[in-house]
Amino acid sequence: MRAYDIIKKKRDGGKLSKQEIEFFVNGYVKGDIPDYQAAAFLMAVYFSKLDMDETLALTFAIRDSGDKVDLSQIDGVLVDKHSTGGVGDKTTLVIAPVMAALGYKIAKMSGRGLGHTGGTIDKLESIKGFNTVLSKERFIDVVNQTGLAVIAQSGNLTPADKKLYALRDVTATVDNISLIVSSIMGKKLALGSDCLLLDVKVGSGAFMKTLKDAKELATQMVSIGKAAGKKTVAFITNMDSPLGNAVGNSIEVIEAIETLKGNGPTDLTELCKKMAVYLLKANGESGDLEKRVEDVFANGKALQKFTEMVKAQGGDENEIKNPELFPKAKYSKDILAEKSGYIVKMDTEKIGTVALILGAGRAKKEDEIDFSAGVYFYKKIDKINEGERIATLYTNQENTLETAEKAFREALTVADKPIEQLPIILEIVD
Ligand code: URA
Repeated sequence: MRAYDIIKKKRDGGKLSKQEIEFFVNGYVKGDIPDYQAAAFLMAVYFSKLDMDETLALTFAIRDSGDKVDLSQIDGVLVDKHSTGGVGDKTTLVIAPVMAALGYKIAKMSGRGLGHTGGTIDKLESIKGFNTVLSKERFIDVVNQTGLAVIAQSGNLTPADKKLYALRDVTATVDNISLIVSSIMGKKLALGSDCLLLDVKVGSGAFMKTLKDAKELATQMVSIGKAAGKKTVAFITNMDSPLGNAVGNSIEVIEAIETLKGNGPTDLTELCKKMAVYLLKANGESGDLEKRVEDVFANGKALQKFTEMVKAQGGDENEIKNPELFPKAKYSKDILAEKSGYIVKMDTEKIGTVALILGAGRAKKEDEIDFSAGVYFYKKIDKINEGERIATLYTNQENTLETAEKAFREALTVADKPIEQLPIILEIVD
């Protein structure tokens, strides 16, 4: 078999066999197939697509590309949640400690920023000392000790996804249903949680721009999860504007901390509470579930779980107790409304790109992230008055501010009349 023939077959719209997909994935992981051939393969898949058999074969090849973690040494019920990627999406930083405070266990493998979207691992690494690379033994210990741990794809855990993910990020091959399904489900199946909640984002800031595509993505992932014996459900959630007010890394961690304290933005808080209630129900719990979830916010237990995880993973708990300690960006710029009216539409992908321009993400695989860079919103789909502050841009590279402001303004549509806001949860696929 030759990588060249596999690329050509897919380029020309052929159906790849399980063996061909395994050959390609394993060859890429071993280094026998170089990045340039893998990039061409991804682009061929992007245009010619994979059918369900091929998607399944790619998912299993990713799952089997490295070690599996036997989570049976963790006492308790393991729940997991994974987002398909959005802008300002810090949901994991809230839902994971909330579920731990409710007595569940979360042993989660997360990703870095991808395309215009941020990644949980980059956000967590903005906490001084936070270590996202743990040995299998330490990972299990942290979950047993604190109830939760979040790690990157390190060592030999789904190395195929680690390499493909980084390559997709810089080759414009992210927004393909099969590549997203195999990336997420490959990781999820390598770690054996009992119950999986998928957050499928749809809208201008998501990889899926239409409800039809989002449903297709949700349905494929739910069926793979169920076929693998996991309780799997997908929430289809609105990504027509950023989630919460902060887009970046440390500013998102700070917003997650505020949310755990009960002072978070409404959309993020509502989404996390509804997810928590759903996960409790999915695990057969009954009674006043809303109240149980409210209580772990109000009594500080969820925040305490987050702090315990940070400490156990080597992070500076003082930053969590006092978010003022997070390093600040040297430069900032307020974006003021040029006229009065209503923000009726946001090109949220472009907002994600603004954050990248400011330094919050990577343009090339080896780029370093500026953790304090990002955008903080004061207005989203809202009424604005001339001269009022819509957002503040933060960066350590002053020369990015002009381009970022221009792109930011292009991303907003201001009209004379308001529009009706969509709810945060649009549909549930289970
Ligand atoms: N999250 C992932 O882990 N993979 C994707 O492809 C998209 C979002």
